[in-house]
Amino acid sequence: MLRRHPWIFSGGVGAVEGSPRPGDTVDVLSSDGKWLASAAYSPKSQIVGRVWSFTPGEDIGQEFFKIRIEQAVATRKSLAPTVPERACRLLNAESDGLPGVIADRYGDWISCELLSTGAERFKDEIAAQLMAATGALGVWNRSDAAVRTKEGLPRTSGPLAGQEPPELVEIEEGPARLLVDIRNGHKTGYYLDQRDNRSAVRKLCAGRNVLNCFCYTGGFGVMALHGGAAGCMNIDSSGPALELARKNTALNGQEHEDVEYLEDDVFAALRRLRDQGRTFGAIVLDPPKFVDSRANIQKGCRGYKDINLSALRLLEPGGLLFTFSCSGLLDEDLFQKVVAGAALDSVRDARIVRRLGQAPDHPVALNFPEGQYLKGLLVQVA
Ligand code: SAH
Repeated sequence: MLRRHPWIFSGGVGAVEGSPRPGDTVDVLSSDGKWLASAAYSPKSQIVGRVWSFTPGEDIGQEFFKIRIEQAVATRKSLAPTVPERACRLLNAESDGLPGVIADRYGDWISCELLSTGAERFKDEIAAQLMAATGALGVWNRSDAAVRTKEGLPRTSGPLAGQEPPELVEIEEGPARLLVDIRNGHKTGYYLDQRDNRSAVRKLCAGRNVLNCFCYTGGFGVMALHGGAAGCMNIDSSGPALELARKNTALNGQEHEDVEYLEDDVFAALRRLRDQGRTFGAIVLDPPKFVDSRANIQKGCRGYKDINLSALRLLEPGGLLFTFSCSGLLDEDLFQKVVAGAALDSVRDARIVRRLGQAPDHPVALNFPEGQYLKGLLVQVA
């Protein structure tokens, strides 16, 4: 608390005075009665309080959300053109001073995830201020993530403000045009956090035959082809994701290129490709979160090692591996060790040529290091 960390754990709370309800704004006091912060109360969660403000007397209402949201939108604008105005994360929760509030902009639409009781309580204020600060036509609520249940909140999705978005919304990412399914896609619809890494793939894959693992709607592959890749094989276990990947290929005029789509489990597919004697000049490994709790770190590491080992074996001499982990509980050091272990077992001479991370519209507040979740390594084999 004294380090301005925005989370208050249940074990650290001596007593709750009065009878606050979930989502109510409460005052947080030190054991000797000094005012520390105002926070959203969440009795069902281990994180019983999420701090709205460390400023005494700041009222948590319309004006508070107006200021925070205008600030967040302004910082994104100040990072243009690195952060594109019409396809970016506007609110990155704790790191933008709004615990549990995620808002991504896709063209004229905003897609939100509200992951805390406090965010839920003020959803109308948040939506109204997002509309006002951006001129968006509508805000869609994608609060259907499983973590909502930890806060005792139901999983829900639907319109929050303004007009309803069309089934597919088109965004631009560098030279690429991409379709986003705000209603049914993962998270808020797309993985904006990987924007800069997709750009790195575009710049480094000319002439290379690319294997895009965990491709989702094909973003890395589309970008690779924009950069002159010789071909791209996209693998994902989700049929609907691959269907959208095909549409994205067509939208970018790449349907006549050497593009393959494989609906398969990446673990198994990588082994099969090896049996078939296939090789690639570049491989992207962007798996879902393998570590979702501390108890799962070892198991998750085995998963990361497995795919990295298999991928390294498929690389041509001089080949590039873009390997990622979005598990917040797995730190950069350990991830690097896992990849090093995979390199050792693959008997490939491999070196890190670049470190990769989340795009700048996904900032990490220095008082909230947990906000750093995406890490990656660009590894080149000899
Ligand atoms: N690289 C993507 C985002 C990947 S999200 C982008 O830049 O947009 C992770 C993807 O992995 C999801 O699309 C999910 O369907 C897929 N997935 C999860 N487990 C998988 C598995 N075992 N094999 C193949 N795909 C898997």
